[in-house]
Amino acid sequence: MTDRQVDKDTHKDSGADAYRVLARKYRPTTFAQLIGQDALVRTLTNAITSGRIAQGYMLTGVRGVGKTTTARLIARALNCIGPDGKGGPTPEPCGVCANCTAIAEDRHVDVLEMDAASRTGIDDIRELLDGVRYRPTSARYKIYIVDEVHMLSEKAFNALLKTLEEPPEHVKFIFATTEIRKVPVTVLSRCQRFDLRRIESADLHKLFAQISKTEGATVEEGALALIARAADGSARDGLSILDQAISQSAGKKVTETAVRDMLGLADRALVFDLFDAVMSGDVKKALDLLADQYAAGASPVVILQDLLELVHWLTRMKVAPDGANDPALAETERTRGVAMAGKLGMPVLTRSWQMLLKGLSEARAAPMPLQAVEMVLVRMAYAAELPSPADVIKSLESGGASARPSASAAAPSGGSNGGARAVARGSAMPSAEAVSQPTAQLAQTKPVELPAPQTFAAIVDLFADKREIVLADHLKRHVHLVRFDIGLIEFNPGKLAPKDLSGQVGKLLTQWTGQRWVVSVVNAAGAPTLHDQEMEQAKADPVVKSILEAFPGAIIETVRRADDT
Ligand SMILES: [Zn+2]
Repeated sequence: MTDRQVDKDTHKDSGADAYRVLARKYRPTTFAQLIGQDALVRTLTNAITSGRIAQGYMLTGVRGVGKTTTARLIARALNCIGPDGKGGPTPEPCGVCANCTAIAEDRHVDVLEMDAASRTGIDDIRELLDGVRYRPTSARYKIYIVDEVHMLSEKAFNALLKTLEEPPEHVKFIFATTEIRKVPVTVLSRCQRFDLRRIESADLHKLFAQISKTEGATVEEGALALIARAADGSARDGLSILDQAISQSAGKKVTETAVRDMLGLADRALVFDLFDAVMSGDVKKALDLLADQYAAGASPVVILQDLLELVHWLTRMKVAPDGANDPALAETERTRGVAMAGKLGMPVLTRSWQMLLKGLSEARAAPMPLQAVEMVLVRMAYAAELPSPADVIKSLESGGASARPSASAAAPSGGSNGGARAVARGSAMPSAEAVSQPTAQLAQTKPVELPAPQTFAAIVDLFADKREIVLADHLKRHVHLVRFDIGLIEFNPGKLAPKDLSGQVGKLLTQWTGQRWVVSVVNAAGAPTLHDQEMEQAKADPVVKSILEAFPGAIIETVRRADDT
């Protein structure tokens, strides 16, 4: 998020003027206005209504979710006396009584606030707690609000604890922290804890729409969606961005493009284009798109973040297609995303995620982020063309030339470094086609041809190919072959093979090959297992022989070379 944070505090203290920043102007004044914090509001309301008022409250959550606002609301709820001056603590503070108004304006003598981030020492806390034993001047309760409480020094915590252990009836503490784990458990155990949640972007979107309307500003839906996304769960951050966007538009409509420029974001559709180009191995197109975005003012690091976000979203959509219903998304994004998620395989997506994540930290550390990002894209484009490990094993085991890299097709379109890749796109996929078709389709474009294993070893490979790894292993390690013909296998299953091995193997072979296979168990010794044969072969290998001599007692594990089919 850091790269995307706009100057959120620009207007921070201009509230003194007639013009008040939106974040202040629309600060919630009732619990009902606290969006996205339903659980907190319910618990607090119940507690106050039933008169179970805790000695201390601990509010935790990321920055900007409304901890301080909530703290002040609690202070008002506890001290409100109602419009007639006779009311008690209420979950719905009136907002008009002397206590409510003074607290809202940060000037109530009995509500003391301290920011522990800037005042961490023992003396600071002593000074704050100095008046604890005196009764409140005008309010019902003396309320101490300590923000970023985890920053207090150990001594300061101890001093605080003393008061917390035996607090006078008229004192209440409200603590806020972004790092709850740094708060000593002795303090935590004396407080009622509330976790403030990040606000959903859909909720923020609604809030911003409503506020824009109240402000008389016209803001495009797409712009609102962008702001809601950039706010990252914080109403305050989002309102600061909205504020800035509205003042920049100078009375005109706030457009999606303007907000995108303001936030240094890449065009969403172009992020799709970019990812498409990368996944198709079209390096030149990818670099051109990146250059365009860069020239238009998008930060390269933010572009990587956008790609990362896109990959995450596509992955989620593969797992749970409901995710496509995010209202923050434009219709075109949704349809395009659904199509993309359908085309790309899960291994490709997870690999892209890892490469982007690694690339992101590299780009952040790089003196020239643009170059770093270019390198990430190049790497990804090449990797997108790599078959998955499973496919590599498959092609090696079947020895089929069709899955081998073909030198002529290997050069990526427009790529500057065609020779660099170890395993390239299969020849089934001409590069011209690759531009429009993501490589993940590779598996689907293979001609349908039924396997026709000619040897027992080929049968074992076929089981491995079909991901019947357990059966393949049994066949390899336990089966002593007695007779083999096309369509007929007789074997002695040894002691360790499962009883129904022959049945299963026969059924699957018949299914895969489209030809009847009879597989039966016979009572004859049969040949050594494939595994034993391989071991013997390996021992006969001069290199292995010399290793065994050098390391007496060494055990040979499965030996297979890439060119050994
Ligand atoms: Zn009141």
